[in-house]
Amino acid sequence: MKLSSDLNEFLLPYSDYNYSKNESGVYNEDTTTQFIYDQFKDYAIGHGCSAKWDGVKKKVETEYLPECETPDIDPIPRDKNKSAVTNQDGVFILPMFLENSQAQEFKWLSDFSDVTDNNVIEGLLTFVDSYGQWIENKKGNIKYQSEFKEIAHQELEKCEQDYQRMKENVETLLKGENNKDNLASFRLMNSAMFMQLWHSVKVKQNEVILMLENKDFNSFDFNFYKEADDKLFSQSESAGWRAFQLAFILLNLDGIFKPENDENWERRNEWVDLVWFPTGGGKTEAYLGLIALTIINRRKLHKEEGGGVASIMRYTLRLLTMQQFQRASLLIMALELIRRWNQYGLGNEPITIGLWVGDNSLPNKTEDLITEFEKLNNKQHNKIPFSNCPWCGGNIEGEDKEDSENLNNRKNQWYSKRVHLKCSNDKCSFSYPKRRARVRQNDQGAIPVCLSDEIIYQHPPTLLFGTVDKFAQLAHKVNGNENGRNKDSRRLFGNGNWEQSKPQNGYLPPDLIIQDELHLLLGPLGSAVALFESAVDQLCTREDGTRPKIISSTATTRNTQLQIAALFDRKVNLFPKPGVECDDSFFAFYRRSFKNPEKENDEYLSKRKYIGVLPTGRTQIWMQMRLAAIIMTHRAIFELQELQDKSPIDFDVYSNFEKAMDYYHTTISYFNSLKEVGKTQSQIQTYILKELRRVFNRVIRPQKLMHSLYTYGPIQESELTGRLSGEEVKNELKSVETKWNSINRFANIENDETVRGSVPPEFVVATNMISVGIDVSRFNTIIMNSMPRNTAEYIQASSRVARNDYGLVLIVHHPFRARDMSHYEKFIEFHEKMYSYVEPISITPFTKKSVERYMGLYLATMIRHTTRFTDRESARNISTISNEELSSIISELTEYFSDRKIRLSNFDKLINNLLKEENVTQIKQWIKEAFEEWKELEENLDDSTDLVFNRKKNGTNQARKQEQLYVDIEEYEGNIHSKKWQVPMSLRVIEPEAAIKINSI
Ligand SMILES: [Zn+2]
Repeated sequence: MKLSSDLNEFLLPYSDYNYSKNESGVYNEDTTTQFIYDQFKDYAIGHGCSAKWDGVKKKVETEYLPECETPDIDPIPRDKNKSAVTNQDGVFILPMFLENSQAQEFKWLSDFSDVTDNNVIEGLLTFVDSYGQWIENKKGNIKYQSEFKEIAHQELEKCEQDYQRMKENVETLLKGENNKDNLASFRLMNSAMFMQLWHSVKVKQNEVILMLENKDFNSFDFNFYKEADDKLFSQSESAGWRAFQLAFILLNLDGIFKPENDENWERRNEWVDLVWFPTGGGKTEAYLGLIALTIINRRKLHKEEGGGVASIMRYTLRLLTMQQFQRASLLIMALELIRRWNQYGLGNEPITIGLWVGDNSLPNKTEDLITEFEKLNNKQHNKIPFSNCPWCGGNIEGEDKEDSENLNNRKNQWYSKRVHLKCSNDKCSFSYPKRRARVRQNDQGAIPVCLSDEIIYQHPPTLLFGTVDKFAQLAHKVNGNENGRNKDSRRLFGNGNWEQSKPQNGYLPPDLIIQDELHLLLGPLGSAVALFESAVDQLCTREDGTRPKIISSTATTRNTQLQIAALFDRKVNLFPKPGVECDDSFFAFYRRSFKNPEKENDEYLSKRKYIGVLPTGRTQIWMQMRLAAIIMTHRAIFELQELQDKSPIDFDVYSNFEKAMDYYHTTISYFNSLKEVGKTQSQIQTYILKELRRVFNRVIRPQKLMHSLYTYGPIQESELTGRLSGEEVKNELKSVETKWNSINRFANIENDETVRGSVPPEFVVATNMISVGIDVSRFNTIIMNSMPRNTAEYIQASSRVARNDYGLVLIVHHPFRARDMSHYEKFIEFHEKMYSYVEPISITPFTKKSVERYMGLYLATMIRHTTRFTDRESARNISTISNEELSSIISELTEYFSDRKIRLSNFDKLINNLLKEENVTQIKQWIKEAFEEWKELEENLDDSTDLVFNRKKNGTNQARKQEQLYVDIEEYEGNIHSKKWQVPMSLRVIEPEAAIKINSI
């Protein structure tokens, strides 16, 4: 159906919004979100179909395969008010807001440049002021002077606050004689950022190994980096910060350096700075910068006590951690190398990174780590998160035994009870396991990683890198014995029983916590984490009351205050502010090109196209199979054309073809549940192949070579879902990352042997596991089977494609699901304003149900970390403890929640309701009863039985019987003494599975 008219603008938008204030006299979030998308008007909604309209408002029509392209985000601030200029490709684009971006360059800002401190300050202030100027320009815009003045000014005022904060931070924390140390730390942080990036890029290009072979190469010392080229990505541009990354760091200086006028250090203790940026924007670099600055400042300021864990970086999904861990490792290696240069006062303790993950991704015990190292040395499959030296690309080797130096010897203490991982290239800075002064240069040592839980507890790493679920271990791994130090998680917070060689009072607790992907902490996991986070927050609080700085990132900007208050008990500052137009927040800009300098025919540039499909009269599975078959046939047509044009076959000459084949060879099929994965998986080799043959024969005339390649099968499949183990994930990821290679396409001869042709997986079934952090440039086609549960997930999953080049997202809508239909019927509107459709997240950690389920974990952690009940066997001591002491323990534990309630009363009603008076009463009652149940359990035991917290042992040759307090999640109902002490080993296993007990057959 089509409606058109010759009149000008005969169509009116159906959704013209009326922006009005709420009862408190401000424009609320829903209204301002609508406002920034005001430029997109919508003219139709389909019914049982979709709709589209043309730009000149003369035509609307129904559409069955609606499509929409989402604009690319340009991280460079550009000036909308100026005329367009031509870029190197001869295209008209908008000029950059800041002509000179020197102050964003790593090397220019670093210690390796000859730029004076004054110049650095000037550069930073100019950078910050350009944001101020942008705000002024927007305020001056005629549109925001009249009709929309109030709402625009309300939003721009928020930008203004960030601007003022950055400016003040530079002026009061970096500038001037008093702040010389701070500025030195800031510049050193940039040095580390430059070094890690240099190695990351050069190792990928295989240049570093060659450099080491050169006779003139001496070592990776200060002068090496001073000379090193910083044009890492293009000949004309020095590598540096994106504007939002540098701005975010400047914004957070007040959480790392204590401002003089902020006596209670409110900026650190009371605020979470939350970064929101479209996927692929580079949040990781911003985190890494803040981590480096925290580590440098802590070591310099607190000397020995500033050792131990300085920063915790936490992810919600395990897959992410491997890729991100490698990037963070490079930064830690840079900092460790700088420390070894011995000029900056970073102390004697190595700067290290520890990978603390669940799901058996890594061994818990050091002896098992040695087994993994042996596999690594023998080139077998292993769990080690690196395959090569991150610093030079050379081979790596693991030592086969634990270092046995005396831990109390000051000189060797850092090396003892570790197994070292080292680079096998003698010239590399990370090639020596430990001190062997004769052969080793001063700045050489092992790769500073801690890869088993035991090593992590024994030598708490400077950066603790882990998954949320692993933190449940805190309730289990506590040990006060001298020889149990490698089982004592209190050490991660600076507490515990320290060796003579370490500071007697231990270390300061961690200074910085980074929680990535906040929006994934929802539902039961969110509630579990929220309660548990209360324990982490208290354990990270210094004696003087200083709390850790918390940084987080999110994919949704809706209702974030509620989530932050529930999770972290703090206020939130979102960055960057969206401003007044969705296509220009200064820090993020919709990429666009023009036909001429006067900017006519404004057009957004896009790499990602979404196409909606609604199966009618056919099942969704059938539709999915057919789509896969069509995609594969298109691949065949493309390949056929290329081969015909360029015969005889000479692959070397057409690299563009190879890239195209590589980029569009693999199709991801995304599912919302594992059940659907199973259904499809069983049909890949039958139905998809059958469909492929059918479509192929219909559109391609019999062509023997293509026929044999495409329709004989089997289809190369792969899987990226939550049911794989950590090691399987690593292997699958490796196989999907393999490049399509024309040489291997056909059978070929290698070392005088004929090798069968091979291609990377072409059909990958996946679930939401791929939604975070996977960055594979080869992924450029995805079939989404129904809309995911929420819009954030849809954005994240579909953003896996078109990372580097054009990508296609096909959504097979479900005809019987209202949500799917609604998205299909307003397909264009939904995709134009996708981010505004992201649903707010709600978590309710303090409700009765949540408390009953997750409070046990919180309570167990607090008791074992902060009271005398440290050892596993000390559970029996509940009987010897005086009533007085017990009630003081209980009141301290419950006080926390009363205090928290008072803090929440500063917020509006909705947030205030997170923890109601009745919830506090319930929590108090619950804690009291938990202690009573514990006492009762103990009293009922006879003298020959011990009471332990966890891991009870009742072997045949056991002298004494053991009973345990914690309830294992899979324990039979009948064996449970106390429902209160359910303390899972992982936050992921929070829902017990149904247990069937068969009494007799
Ligand atoms: Zn190396």
